[in-house]
Amino acid sequence: MSFNLQDIVRPKIYNLKPYRCARDDFTEGILLDANENASGPIPLSIRDTDLNRYPDPHQVEFKTLLAGFRNRLDKTPGIEPLTEDNLCLGVGSDECIDSLIRACCRPEVDKILTLPPTYSMYSVCANINDVEIVECPLITEDNSFQMNVPEVLSTLKNDPKIKLLFITSPGNPTGKLVNKKDIEFILENWTNGLVVVDEAYIDFADAEGTTYSMAKLVTKYPNLTVLQTLSKSFGLAGIRLGVTFASEEFSSVLNAMKAPYNISSLTSKYAIEAVQEENLNYMIENARNVNQEKHRLLNELISLDYVNRAYVGGLDANFIMVRINNGDNELAKKLYLQLATNSKVVIRFRGNELGCTGCLRITVGTKKENDALIKEFKAVLYSFV
Ligand code: PMP
Repeated sequence: MSFNLQDIVRPKIYNLKPYRCARDDFTEGILLDANENASGPIPLSIRDTDLNRYPDPHQVEFKTLLAGFRNRLDKTPGIEPLTEDNLCLGVGSDECIDSLIRACCRPEVDKILTLPPTYSMYSVCANINDVEIVECPLITEDNSFQMNVPEVLSTLKNDPKIKLLFITSPGNPTGKLVNKKDIEFILENWTNGLVVVDEAYIDFADAEGTTYSMAKLVTKYPNLTVLQTLSKSFGLAGIRLGVTFASEEFSSVLNAMKAPYNISSLTSKYAIEAVQEENLNYMIENARNVNQEKHRLLNELISLDYVNRAYVGGLDANFIMVRINNGDNELAKKLYLQLATNSKVVIRFRGNELGCTGCLRITVGTKKENDALIKEFKAVLYSFV
């Protein structure tokens, strides 16, 4: 009797390349590769939990507190406030991405539209679900990394199979906010699918006092969905909590399809503590400090020869992207490998992505980590050139 797994597992799944990151190869030293919060988690104290009981399947307390926080930040007049019924929670926003694709796209029929260079999980999840990926590159020639609105709109209008448009704002790896007006223009002119704005890094952009988040606008646009996470600004990547903001109607669909107890009691306890007033204030202050360090790090790096002053990603997230020697991929890759192996400083090589030749993405670390990075970066770069 012969058993061939390949005949049973769907071909797209069988051939799936798992998500890879720098941490697969390098796990020691100064880790500036994954856009985590180097200052550590916001200060929490875990309390006793009834771990023999299932967690609250609806997570009302957390949702209400987070909705209230986003409402307070966004004072745009005439927009209905968010309530807990606009939120659905996931095991990180990665799970939220997968749920959106499963909810809206029929395998082998429907499609998603992405705007490269962008976060890779949209295409990983689409592939897992046998959903085709259509791409409209961001405008890269001028390094603006903005959406090509006419091209995006005509692609959406000409292909009724496209059900989701994924916009990362601030972008990863671009670090750049996508113009809110452009997103609203798409929302007003395309109703054959949903616009998903992934705001994983939004608190670093918002920390300077202006609200760029579009979360509250889900009460205005039924075709808008916004993703956020506690992994970045809250420094809680380890608890795995992502949030989808959507209309009440779509939110109830997403809540109906999720596994009943997808958010653990432990995650839930930490998350509820994280959105208490004093911790929210801490998060904003911390994001401001990260931003200060980001500017210092960038200024130090672009003062070096072979790091292109004219080219940097945006400064709206907790990382920077710099280009080496006018797009010299070989040198950038050598620099990345040498830093990880010899200097034990791990960053990300992003040179194979659209518009990013010769680029390295560096997460802002603590002051001490950034000092070490700058020193090692200089030493390694100048040992090569
Ligand atoms: N969206 C973007 C743009 C990201 O960069 C990341 C993490 N790298 C995520 C979503 C996923 O975050 P998490 O699953 O930790 O919430």
